[in-house]
Amino acid sequence: MDLRTASIDRIRNGTFDVFIVGGGINGAVCAAALAGRGASVALVDRGDFGAFTSQQSSNLVWGGFKYLETYEVLLVRKLCMSRNRLIKAYPDNIKEIAFLAALDESSPFPPWLAALGSFAYWAIGNFRTHRPRVLRAAKIKSVEPVIDIEDVRGGIEYYDAYLKDNDSRFVFGFIRSALDVGAAAANYVELVEAHRDGSVWRMKLRDVETGDELSCTSRVLINATGPFIDGVNSQLGLRTEHRIVYSKGIHLIVPKITQNERVLAFFDDTQRLFYVIPMGARSVIGTTDTRVADPFTHVTEEDRGFLLGQINARLDLPQPLTAADVIAERSGVRPLVVSRDGDDQEHVDWTKLSRKHEIEVDEKDNAISIFGGKLTDCLNVGEEVAAGVTRLGVPLEKDKGTWYGEPARATRDEFYRQARLMKLDAMRHKRDVEPLTDRLWRRYGRRAFEMLDEIQRDPTMGKDIMDNADYLRVELHLAAGTEMITKLEDFMRRRSKISQVVSAETIRASAGIREVAEMLFGAEADAKIAEYFRGDGDGS
Ligand SMILES: Cc1cc2nc3c(=O)[nH]c(=O)nc-3n(C[C@H](O)[C@H](O)[C@H](O)COP(=O)(O)OP(=O)(O)OC[C@H]3O[C@@H](n4cnc5c(N)ncnc54)[C@H](O)[C@@H]3O)c2cc1C
Repeated sequence: MDLRTASIDRIRNGTFDVFIVGGGINGAVCAAALAGRGASVALVDRGDFGAFTSQQSSNLVWGGFKYLETYEVLLVRKLCMSRNRLIKAYPDNIKEIAFLAALDESSPFPPWLAALGSFAYWAIGNFRTHRPRVLRAAKIKSVEPVIDIEDVRGGIEYYDAYLKDNDSRFVFGFIRSALDVGAAAANYVELVEAHRDGSVWRMKLRDVETGDELSCTSRVLINATGPFIDGVNSQLGLRTEHRIVYSKGIHLIVPKITQNERVLAFFDDTQRLFYVIPMGARSVIGTTDTRVADPFTHVTEEDRGFLLGQINARLDLPQPLTAADVIAERSGVRPLVVSRDGDDQEHVDWTKLSRKHEIEVDEKDNAISIFGGKLTDCLNVGEEVAAGVTRLGVPLEKDKGTWYGEPARATRDEFYRQARLMKLDAMRHKRDVEPLTDRLWRRYGRRAFEMLDEIQRDPTMGKDIMDNADYLRVELHLAAGTEMITKLEDFMRRRSKISQVVSAETIRASAGIREVAEMLFGAEADAKIAEYFRGDGDGS
């Protein structure tokens, strides 16, 4: 029986301490935090885990330097502390990275003020990152020749962190941890209806893949549906003090702009910061901040034209970037929290709405709603929700901090030792790719030991599965059984980031795609490939 079927079987007619609707970062982190502390947990998402907002982020784990502009010092402090904790807990997945901000005549701050801000930011973050530095225009040119310094007055370099892989894989890590400690989690299962019956919640669910209906009960219900939170709450008859408004942001993925592993930061013509962020052999340009009413968005020609225009005006490229250079695009909405009774939405500067989260605990109906938030803030969300669940009468084991983070240093050292003895890194002949040992450990942690065994048993398992994508056959082999890949898109876009770094045409022409589908889906491979290229494998 596959992992998803087994999970659905456990959810069907099950009784849980906690039922979580929504498997983005907020739902996933709650599942890991609660199951890790002994609660019985069920989680469903009507799409794949991390397939809505949580796959559209900038992949940054940061304190939000730019929120100092709106004097949100407390929020920045909290986010900096979360960033520091995450860097410590995920040393191979979350890496500190330099942000080089070039300031020109139209920038809202002169370099000296930005420099002051960067030192304040460093201090707010308890000096845990590298020290910032101030750069003259000529120095900027020497460290990043790609930046056009004609109008640049100077700049600063400060430090934050980023996800080496991708946001949705980070989300899946929490789902996997929750599964490992007994949670039942299933993708493509929708919450259709839920109501209180005495002291329990009764849920009606639908398996989106088969149309089957199922039900279960729980003591507490957690609404972690991100942009859909208000609709779900009103359907469940829950009244809250907060609600959500949407801000759309897009990213464009293009061939690598700079060889340096550094984020480039610029103010756009509307005086909003945007970035060039490294993603392996690619660069990601973004983001934007547009008020929208509908959570379903896509990159319009205007969005694309705007970002390309802004970046071309600030770089010294042999040829300006055009739409033809765009390998992949991302578009999503930030669920921003506002108070229900206030009229904040109408009167404040839209781009200055806070990025904080709010957690409402409803003691009358034993429900918890998670509004807003950031990937960076995820550990706080897990802890605050755990406190809320305890208040609602579900006892939890003491928090020993074991529900998050990478395996212990000694386990890592042993993996590196075994990989060295079998000369794993020497199996790669491609230039410009990171060593296999680093990659496998970062992506799979303890599960990577199994991969070493498999490669030793069958060396073809150590070969790439598709040209242009850094994925070994053994990764697919393991993912098929442990990563609940229901559609080809789940693998191409979220468990891996292949469809973000390889163009759709190249994927279509690749012989490897068939082998990928066969390893994942066996006899259903053709149907899954057709679904993927039709675009209903979840929005390619
Ligand atoms: C452009 C952009 C850039 C960002 N950059 C960063 C960044 O660099 N760093 C950072 O820390 N944060 C960033 N963020 C913020 C961060 O991505 C979001 O705050 C976070 O992903 C929200 O997660 P969530 O779990 O609340 O929502 P989601 O990820 O949207 O998850 C909600 C889930 O609920 C499911 N759902 C809804 N209704 C139902 C139902 N009835 N039944 C079952 N499932 C249901 C949906 O399918 C969805 O998967 C960015 C956001 C955007 C849009």
